[in-house]
Amino acid sequence: MTEIIDGNEVGDAIRSELDGCVDTLADAGVRPGLATVLMTTDGASETYVSMKQKACDEIGIEGIHEEIDPDAPAERLFDKIDELNEDPDVHGILVQMPVPDHVDKWTVLNRIDPIKDVDGFHPQNVGSLVAGHARYKPCTPHGVQKLLEYEGIDTEGKDAVVVGRSDIVGKPMANLLIQKAPGGNATTTICHSRTDDLGEKTRQADLVIAAAGYPELVDGSMISEGTVVIDVGVNRVEADNEKGYELVGDVEFESAKEKAGHITPVPGGVGPMTITMLLYNTVKAASLQEDVDVELP
Ligand code: NDP
Repeated sequence: MTEIIDGNEVGDAIRSELDGCVDTLADAGVRPGLATVLMTTDGASETYVSMKQKACDEIGIEGIHEEIDPDAPAERLFDKIDELNEDPDVHGILVQMPVPDHVDKWTVLNRIDPIKDVDGFHPQNVGSLVAGHARYKPCTPHGVQKLLEYEGIDTEGKDAVVVGRSDIVGKPMANLLIQKAPGGNATTTICHSRTDDLGEKTRQADLVIAAAGYPELVDGSMISEGTVVIDVGVNRVEADNEKGYELVGDVEFESAKEKAGHITPVPGGVGPMTITMLLYNTVKAASLQEDVDVELP
């Protein structure tokens, strides 16, 4: 029987443990604060940010939201980041990507104080993760790692294939899987758009993590019996419904389900974990900056 992994259930379990951490911080007179900065009018980005703010509110994290006119000079965003870096009530800063073309993304990532970089994208945090001393693991790959942990799926000695090599999902995911640490120790292959014969790679895997942003790229013919299939992709495809579209993953769920040992659905798989791990990193950021010990899940 294929097990469908429920990201909402695992996310809720972790959030209730984070509630306890927020209480511990409150006892010490600390309220974690997360600042989100939006420099776009893109609807999807606005939705993501408002979901993050709502999740903060639900567990007692102070949400601070800043909007910058997308036509404003890049300096306006950099000044705002400087201001938030200095604000003692702000423990985490998240600049919602993408930023407009005239704003250099690399400068943005470098500008955020690494101790407040709850996305884990600052080069100092990326380096720490690669070296096996992660301070803030990027939220989506960390969420995948937690899903596997909560489902009792051991990665040690397994052959893992990560489809996608982006800085926010594919690369950090692979870096977590190769660590000599719990949730790691997997023999890991990274595939991308220039990979020759993707199916040949995925069929050899015990664990396939699809993060390509390509609808239903991985189908049942590309996996072997019993494979653990984690679908990170969220793609809008046209549909004959009220909204005119539906969300599908990077995995063709119906055919992959026939063979997979475990599989995540879209929506309801990795998505809820990403926001949960942002809360986790914000609680950790407050704990580090305020020197209050908390027992993170
Ligand atoms: P990017 O577009 O930044 O990266 C996609 C990666 O997939 C690239 O490395 C690209 O290769 C590779 N790729 C694209 N097409 C193929 C293909 N046909 N075969 C093999 N590899 C391919 O995307 P992200 O990493 O930001 O996101 C990936 C997906 O995950 C998206 O659908 C996104 O919406 C979703 N996402 C979901 C989150 C969640 O919380 N559930 C959070 C973040 C992302 P190359 O490098 O050669 O171009």
